[in-house]
Amino acid sequence: MPMKEVDQQAATPQPALSRQDFLRAALALAASPLFRYVPAEAADRFDVSEIAPGLFVHQGRYELQSPLNRGDMANASFVVGADAVAVIDTLGSVVAGRDLRSAIRAVTGKPIRYVINTHMHPDHVFGNAAFKEDSPAFVGHYKLARGLATRADRYLAINKGMLGEEAFEGIEIIVPTLAVENRLTLDLGGRSLVLETQPTAHTDNDLTVTDTVTGTLFLGDLLFSVHVPTLDGSIKGWLALLDEFSRRQAPRVVPGHGPHAMALPEALQPEQRYLGTIVADVRKLIKDGKTLEDATRIAGFAERDAWRLFDHYHVRNVTAAFAELEWE
Ligand SMILES: [Zn+2]
Repeated sequence: MPMKEVDQQAATPQPALSRQDFLRAALALAASPLFRYVPAEAADRFDVSEIAPGLFVHQGRYELQSPLNRGDMANASFVVGADAVAVIDTLGSVVAGRDLRSAIRAVTGKPIRYVINTHMHPDHVFGNAAFKEDSPAFVGHYKLARGLATRADRYLAINKGMLGEEAFEGIEIIVPTLAVENRLTLDLGGRSLVLETQPTAHTDNDLTVTDTVTGTLFLGDLLFSVHVPTLDGSIKGWLALLDEFSRRQAPRVVPGHGPHAMALPEALQPEQRYLGTIVADVRKLIKDGKTLEDATRIAGFAERDAWRLFDHYHVRNVTAAFAELEWE
């Protein structure tokens, strides 16, 4: 993806701009999507872009959660209809979720009726409590509640340690009050969102969202760009699903991590290549009688330079893939 997207993430505290930098920034802004909102109190820290009419995306950082980024490391979106607003993912803390809520309120005063979670991972659900005051329906895959309940203690402990007291404040587990069994349509007035549960892939509770007015497809963490994919479900299931998505017609897709919006089918290709490389390498190692330990040192390392956070997640991905593939 364009380096502009990456550089934007890297620029945390803004140094004084040279004239050349200023011109470059002005040009980048002119070329950016329809709308850009930066709340005054959160300048340099939080922005959303209108990628299609009424459809806003905040891009998270390619980082692990920390006191500095306050769990703002995934993409979060909101869709504005004639009657109501739906939020898609809430970031990794209540403080980050509140920034998202402020960004929504700067755009519209319409009621926030739905908070949709694309899957159970903390970087997508730990901001849920920031929307409690709106009394929305919390919406997710029917397996999300069980997944989150099983992991709640561990997720809370890990995030408390990594975020620190201040950014951890107010975080609680909020499971769906509206569970999607297969497919569900939410009416926002003049536009609807079609929610579809997906088979086990990135996790066992991935949910996709399609906006009927613009055709935009929100893939959650079924699509990673720049940020290395994280496997917590089935690598074979994930590859099969990506194959299916590559045949879909959508004018744009929104990844769970990556740029605000991307095009099909190209957007899927680096992830297909990454997961496909792991499968091919692990299968060969198993066939040659190699161990899991061998695999974690060899499999998929040709992909190392293609992804951010590779060293943090790759060995876990290989471990999960090995467990799945050794019983073929
Ligand atoms: Zn994520």
